[in-house]
Parts: sequence; C-alpha cells; structure tokens
Amino acid sequence: MKINPHLIGFDIDCVVADTMDAFIRLAAENYNLVVTPEQITRFRVEKCLDIDPVIIEKIFTHLLKTPEECGLKPMQGAVDVLTEMADYSLLNFVTARPDPDPIAAWLHAVLGPEVFRKVRLAATGEHNDKTEYINDMGLKYFVDDRARTCIQLAGEGINAIVFNQPWNKGRHNLPTVNNWLELRALW
Ligand SMILES: [Mg+2]
Repeated sequence: MKINPHLIGFDIDCVVADTMDAFIRLAAENYNLVVTPEQITRFRVEKCLDIDPVIIEKIFTHLLKTPEECGLKPMQGAVDVLTEMADYSLLNFVTARPDPDPIAAWLHAVLGPEVFRKVRLAATGEHNDKTEYINDMGLKYFVDDRARTCIQLAGEGINAIVFNQPWNKGRHNLPTVNNWLELRALW
C-alpha cells in the first residue's frame, strides 16, 4: 500500500523533533539529574521518573516556549525526508502544543525558509483534539508517538501510524514505523 503524501500529517514532538533527547539534556544541564532513554517508559514522564513534577513541568515549559534556545534537534532523517517531500507536497503538522509560534520558528530554522514555505501547522493545545484539525486539513493519515492519540484517531476514521517510542510499545495494535526512512518508504 502506498500513501498519497498530500494526505499525510505529522505530530511534531518525538516524531519530527527529538524532544526526549532535549528533555534528558536539560535535566542534566539545568538540574544535574541523570535520566536515561530507557527510563522513559510512559508518555507522561512524571509517572516513570523519580523527579519532582515541578521540575519536569519547568523543563517542558522551557521546551514549549524556547525550543531553539533549548537546542531541540530534529529526529534523524526527518529533515532529509521532509525536504524531499516539499518538492511535491505541502508539509502538514498538527501539534498539541498550545502556541504555534515557537515551534514554527524552530521548523523554519531546521528546514530552512524554502522548505518552510510548504509548512501547514496547527497547534491544538489539547492532545485529544487533533481529529478536527486533521480533518480540516483534508488528511487521511497521521503519524504520532502518543498511543492514546493514535487509538482515538483510528476510532474517528483516520489512518493512524504510531512512531515507535519506548512509551508507546505494547499499548496499541496499529501500524508502526521505527524511523523516517521507514516513513518515506510509505509513499
Ligand atoms: Mg508527540
């Protein structure tokens, strides 16, 4: 099965952006806390890490408000695949972030102005409100790392594809991809 690239959209954090890598680094740099990727087994990291939830909140707020300053990096392969895709399609993103501006600036920085012109970005502010935005964009496929979001989307008629991460393993029965090379093979 091949997907029409015009019909696919992407979540940003932990799909396009390596948000967990940045989280781990900020925890170390700003709070002297050692977190390993293997420890992050829940989407809500406060449920799996023995760290003051106030600190976790502060790190995520930092990442929401100033992703560039935090040194947020793209996931491996994401920029190459999106750059190629921009030659023949819009790039559709729906994030649960509350404010589109900081992450739009980040996308502009990592993709460059040329590719960024093809970006359509919606910020829902809510993990459970993505369906409406995905439908408004006319998309039929959506890639996300949050199992509950994917299960909800699938129940509402969208072909959800789970981007494999430790916190979504074994929490769904949906199609998955491991990385951007596998995503690119879908269209
Ligand atoms: Mg995400």
